[in-house]
Amino acid sequence: MTKQRNLTVKSHLFLPSRKKIWTVVGNNEYWLDVHLKYCSCRYFYYKSLMNAKMCSHLEKITKAIEQNEYEEVEFSDQNYDMFVTSLLKDILNSNF
Ligand SMILES: [Zn+2]
Repeated sequence: MTKQRNLTVKSHLFLPSRKKIWTVVGNNEYWLDVHLKYCSCRYFYYKSLMNAKMCSHLEKITKAIEQNEYEEVEFSDQNYDMFVTSLLKDILNSNF
């Protein structure tokens, strides 16, 4: 049996542009692109590209969107650049 990890799906909605950034938060926070089926985690980077498999975050986010089970947080567009920069910094620090 695999250990059930507690993952939270978050939608970051930027207004007024309605740009959306999806993340899944577990031990780290990962950036996902639902349409491109991309995840920033290490598993995705090494395994999914070769096997065309989804990582646990992509499975989780697909289910969460279907069932409307995610947190939505609203931001102002003014914070978009800062948000993306700090998210990328976190991802780079935790993965590489
Ligand atoms: Zn992932």
